[in-house]
Amino acid sequence: MGKPHVLAIPCPAQGHVIPMMELSQCLAKNGIKVTFVNTEFNHERVVKAILDTEKINELISLVSVPDGLESAEDRKDPGKLTEAMRKVMPLKLEALIEEINGTPGDGITCVLTDFFMAGALEVAEKFCVKRAAFLTAAVTLMALTINADKLIDDGIIDEDGTFLKNEMIQLSPSMPKMSTTHFGWTCFPDPTLRKIIFHSLFQNNTSAKLAQHIICNSSNELEPWAHTFIPNCFQIGPLLASRRLGKSTGYFWPEDSTCLDWLNQQPENSVIYIAFGSFTIFDQIQFRELALGLELTNKPFLWVVREDIIQDIDGAYPEGFKERVKNKGKIVNWAPQQEILSHPSIACFLSHCGWNSTIECVSNGIPLLCWPHFGDQFLNQSYVVDHWKIGLGFEKDEKGIIGREEIKNKMEKVLGDGKYKMRAKELQEKIIDGVEEGGRSRKNFENFIDWIKEN
Ligand code: UDP
Repeated sequence: MGKPHVLAIPCPAQGHVIPMMELSQCLAKNGIKVTFVNTEFNHERVVKAILDTEKINELISLVSVPDGLESAEDRKDPGKLTEAMRKVMPLKLEALIEEINGTPGDGITCVLTDFFMAGALEVAEKFCVKRAAFLTAAVTLMALTINADKLIDDGIIDEDGTFLKNEMIQLSPSMPKMSTTHFGWTCFPDPTLRKIIFHSLFQNNTSAKLAQHIICNSSNELEPWAHTFIPNCFQIGPLLASRRLGKSTGYFWPEDSTCLDWLNQQPENSVIYIAFGSFTIFDQIQFRELALGLELTNKPFLWVVREDIIQDIDGAYPEGFKERVKNKGKIVNWAPQQEILSHPSIACFLSHCGWNSTIECVSNGIPLLCWPHFGDQFLNQSYVVDHWKIGLGFEKDEKGIIGREEIKNKMEKVLGDGKYKMRAKELQEKIIDGVEEGGRSRKNFENFIDWIKEN
């Protein structure tokens, strides 16, 4: 084998591209060359959003392949995108590897794919190169996915992944109990989409068995049962680019860094940060209620409102809201989230509980208010509220809305009761120890590097 050269393939979603990019930067820092493959659509966005001041390691080259959809087609439909990619990706990846291998001494020696894009491991097998998978979600999600057939046999879900009874189950005695309504795929409200997602996860299981090395952006302190249950999955997280590399990169939207100047002017431990990741959509009524809840709370807030978070963004805010909160609140399209969360002015994070947002928050010792919308976000909320006990969720009213009073009350509870902050700080200390010299995540990462480098 030649010099180590990794082909890194993320799922085409923001919450997968960012951690895969962080991991790639960590590999490059260890002298490993990386070719990073985005879909053409995402590649263009990532390249556009990279700041002039930002330095991507020179050992990383950014390339792209088509995703199989026409340029005008809707990429927010995960079912459609997954189907299209499954058809075109293997051939496109083969062509890419052949092209790269055309330069003598520079060939691909390892394919590192997102765990949920395991089809790429079949391509790796054809080329007889190393096969690694990277999980950017909780290990429990993967445990549920790879045990889907057992869940069917035990009568917990049907063949389309729908839960048969709303109950609490335990995959193994060492793992926490979880609700059948929180399996990741069971949390998609649309039944057709739920079925497509479940079948694609189920199909992914077969190819995932080809992985020789599985690593995940989690840590032993966050999911201590993980390694016992899936011994070949190694926790290397949290990756935390802002801590290890200075800054995270791979954004789909340009960041508005004026919010850092604004935060510098706020008192320590005073600001509520509100962000819902890259996918979440709000309806008009709920969006207004959130705005009014923030106003009622009467604390400084930094709120990320993506342009596509609601259909009519211009008419979305309550009458006069922006004027009334102008001295208290800052609203931006996209923020450098990891930098925000490590800022001393941040007191609490109101989040949709995507896995990345959750661990970025925990790594900074900040309590959470959980507002999950779909997918694994409910599972992650149960970690925050029931296991780590570092935050609270919201109750919906009889109309299915989280009301302004509920927002204010829960915010006051989390900020007013020092226990949330104290436990968040304790957890932070433990997980940071894990990535420091001699820590478990650090050792797992070093073993991974050695494995990539060995002939
Ligand atoms: N993010 C960011 N700026 C924002 C909002 C989000 O940098 O204004 C980043 C965040 O730090 C995280 C990712 O986008 O790394 C979102 O991933 P997550 O798993 O939390 O949610 P998803 O977008 O997959 O729902």
